[in-house]
Amino acid sequence: MATTEHNVDPAELEKFSALAHRWWDPQGEFRPLHDLNPLRLGWIDGLAPLAGKRVLDVGCGGGILAEAMARLGGKVTGIDLSEKPLKVGQLHLLESGLSVDYQLSSAEEFSVLNASRFEIVTCMELLEHVPDPASTVAACARLVKPGGRVFFSTINRNPKSYLFAVIGAEYLLKLLPRGTHDYARFIKPSELSRWCRDAGLETIELKGMSYNPVTDSYRLGGDCDVNYSLCCAKDAQ
Ligand code: SAH
Repeated sequence: MATTEHNVDPAELEKFSALAHRWWDPQGEFRPLHDLNPLRLGWIDGLAPLAGKRVLDVGCGGGILAEAMARLGGKVTGIDLSEKPLKVGQLHLLESGLSVDYQLSSAEEFSVLNASRFEIVTCMELLEHVPDPASTVAACARLVKPGGRVFFSTINRNPKSYLFAVIGAEYLLKLLPRGTHDYARFIKPSELSRWCRDAGLETIELKGMSYNPVTDSYRLGGDCDVNYSLCCAKDAQ
């Protein structure tokens, strides 16, 4: 099993740490996550109703999705390996009045003591930042209960995604800071599905996500050429 030290890139953690104080600014560097949030939340809740469920958000950062899931009644734990975003998330709970259990941990490490503890596991916009994403996928599979659901979102790897997610988003439209994404770490849906299958997760739904620069809005559905999400089920035993 991969350990924390093996499956983390300190330079990636530093990027998120340096911007942590901006996490909850809806017009700041994390604006795409704020704009996407209602869409992905609705999608998750539609496939796996959150109310009353034990939910784990892996790579939760400052808690944009974690808090939203708690607002819908999920009993949410958020884990991340970057300390500052977690502190920002913790402070933001004072403002929102919501409850999220934030812990500094990788998915691999957390899965040692918390196997099969969660009905829903979300792992959004994280896989493209870790050296060994298959290991993160396997850890998410260990963390979810048999019969539970795991949600991933990441970025596809092809010339169009390079153009849109790196050149377009970081250089032309400046939706994200330069250097946010490393093309070599992008993941094809076929690769993600294979890692899921190898980890005992069955793909239920693959959904594209796209940004329209003309209307400045996001849309769920359509092609998976750039951003996409995957919902999987762990077989009930
Ligand atoms: N999932 C959140 C935040 C995405 S930003 C959302 O979609 O709103 C990516 C997050 O992954 C950052 O908070 C970063 O600190 C975290 N991260 C990067 N490498 C990690 C690792 N190896 N283990 C856990 N978290 C990691």
